[in-house]
Amino acid sequence: MDSIHKGWFSERGELWPGQALSLEIEEVLHDVKSKYQHITIYQTKTWGRMMTIDGNIQVTERDEFSYQEMMAHVPMFLHPSPKRVLVIGGGDGGVLREIVKHPEVEQVTICEIDDVVIDTCKRFLPSLACGFDHPKVRVEIGDGFQFLRNHPNSFDVIVTDAPDPIGPGVSLFQRDFFALIHSALREGGVVCQQAESIWLDLPLIRDIVGYCAALFPAVNYGIVQIPTYPCGSIGLLVCSKTPGADVTVAARAPTPEQQALLRYYNHPVHAGAFAIPQFARVAVDEA
Ligand code: SAM
Repeated sequence: MDSIHKGWFSERGELWPGQALSLEIEEVLHDVKSKYQHITIYQTKTWGRMMTIDGNIQVTERDEFSYQEMMAHVPMFLHPSPKRVLVIGGGDGGVLREIVKHPEVEQVTICEIDDVVIDTCKRFLPSLACGFDHPKVRVEIGDGFQFLRNHPNSFDVIVTDAPDPIGPGVSLFQRDFFALIHSALREGGVVCQQAESIWLDLPLIRDIVGYCAALFPAVNYGIVQIPTYPCGSIGLLVCSKTPGADVTVAARAPTPEQQALLRYYNHPVHAGAFAIPQFARVAVDEA
């Protein structure tokens, strides 16, 4: 594997030329090619187990909670009563694990294109894939774009735990995709989409914020700290169908029991995530 040199894995993505994040690895635990992508599980020296897809870091056990908690709980606490939830992508199970911490959820459907990701994570990343074990979870193997076409007006919350806009993930950043999300949400529905890095992807961010601003009455862009994603943070694109909604203000706070289960999300962090640096704020507001 040319991403490994003298015991160090380096993430050299074509979407972030001229830079790489390197982690020292102890062992390659699993390496498999599915119909869609190349999936590898490493034992790293200091970040726990790590999954890469096509050489790009998807999760490490040490920092995954920041991403999973914010992707799930920002939209879930924005909705007054989220009963039906859809996760697109997210085959590691981490977002599911967080969503089922909300007792009002009646059913959470995950539409993941690649069953090999799910099987691999069940075997090697059980602390994330435990999300699949919950009785409210229903699994659909297929393309999220196609799934949305067949499910108008069906969900209170949609979380798009997408990969980078490359390979099978390209369709999850297109204008038509957001139109399908909008029509799959019920009245008052909320979507949270993985929305790349303010340091690397401002043109893409401007595009997708613009697509959503043309569809939803409330749209904003926040940031989550996550050391092992490119440049150390990742964006959340959050939209609500409720006119006049402010997605920086959660409709509900975690109960003490819920908060005890969370390591990153809390009420102030929800609001604070949307305080973004001026260069990014200008790009988002111009979109
Ligand atoms: N948290 C990761 C990150 O930001 O790097 C992304 C999570 S990763 C588990 C994304 C998942 O989306 C992958 O398992 C991939 O198979 C799935 N995926 C890619 N394209 C998809 C599509 N069109 N429909 C549904 N799932 C898709």
